[in-house]
Amino acid sequence: MPTPRRQMPRRIYPLRILGMGLGGMVVATVLWERQASPLAWTVLLLATLVWPHVAYLLTRRAADPYAAEVRNLLIDSALVAALVPLMHFNLLPSVMLLTLTMVDKITTGIRGLWVRALWVMLAAGVASTAVMGLHWAPETSMRVMVACLPVMSLHTLSVSAVSYQLIRQSARQNQMLDELRRVDALTGLFGRGHWQEQAEAALRSHHTTDEPACMLMLDIDHFKEINDAYGHTVGDEVIRALAHVVRGNVRAGDCAGRYGGDEFAIVLPGMHARDALAIAQRIREQTEGVRLRSLPELRITSSIGVAPADHRHSSLRAWIDAADAALYVAKNGGRNQVAGCMEPALVPAV
Ligand code: GH3
Ligand code: MG
Repeated sequence: MPTPRRQMPRRIYPLRILGMGLGGMVVATVLWERQASPLAWTVLLLATLVWPHVAYLLTRRAADPYAAEVRNLLIDSALVAALVPLMHFNLLPSVMLLTLTMVDKITTGIRGLWVRALWVMLAAGVASTAVMGLHWAPETSMRVMVACLPVMSLHTLSVSAVSYQLIRQSARQNQMLDELRRVDALTGLFGRGHWQEQAEAALRSHHTTDEPACMLMLDIDHFKEINDAYGHTVGDEVIRALAHVVRGNVRAGDCAGRYGGDEFAIVLPGMHARDALAIAQRIREQTEGVRLRSLPELRITSSIGVAPADHRHSSLRAWIDAADAALYVAKNGGRNQVAGCMEPALVPAV
């Protein structure tokens, strides 16, 4: 597939014909007004009518068409600058053409091209003045102003259209990146980073409004053995099945994420410990009921730690540690169980 870099010369060819053509009409109007010499007309015709095709042929034949096109872009700038003394520094067309050629360099996005173009233009302007002589007639007639309009409008519109496309494209890509960052590819649940942001927000809300919130930390039991016995593909299938169970037990405002390999973390805002324990139990039971189509004899169990948010949790880390500690109790208690890391009044391991 051709890369945008490779396509550059072909893309620029018609734009150069158009730009040089319209710019050439402006210069021609000035030359016509001041009854310019045949030498000035020859330079103009070569620059505007012949150069675009020569430039294209040069890139077609170059070993590195991209490098050749960058050189051509610099030659464009040199030619435009050389036309300024030909116009006796007629103010509006001179400033306009120099600006537009500079805009063309900037919008290529090629690092440093506009600085190189600046030097090339300066050199070309001086050289052209040396050959054609220094004549100063900056006044711009109405006729020349009118001749400036097509190139000015078309150029501005085309640059805006390209910027519009780039902005839309970058917005789409940012959205995709955000989606990739938020979602875990295997399960479709939140990825760890986004889950942490959501969990932090729930803890902050608990601290400021005293609204209850609970965290569930779930880990598949003996998952390594499943991987070892049946392979990672089956392991992945088990993780996806668990994610399905988790998703089926959370509400729209809850935040369920894949925390690690076979570990899931769920934040249930607005939920008291007793209800959270009931949900954890339901998830644990449904995990036991999971049957893989490819391996119906496989039995899966999970251990779940539950920790309500507490004012003593000064950071998310402390809350996660509490849920982890509960998970540890559930694992040590023989697995396939739910444990709460709670104050004495709350329910012990179930
Ligand atoms: P325990 O009951 O103590 O949790 O034992 P376990 O075997 O489940 O131990 P642990 O939770 O530490 O095992 C996690 C394993 O998950 C280790 C790693 O090889 C595996 N794992 C991590 N990410 C993936 C993954 O994306 N796909 C698969 N198939 N396996 C993974
Ligand atoms: Mg495990």
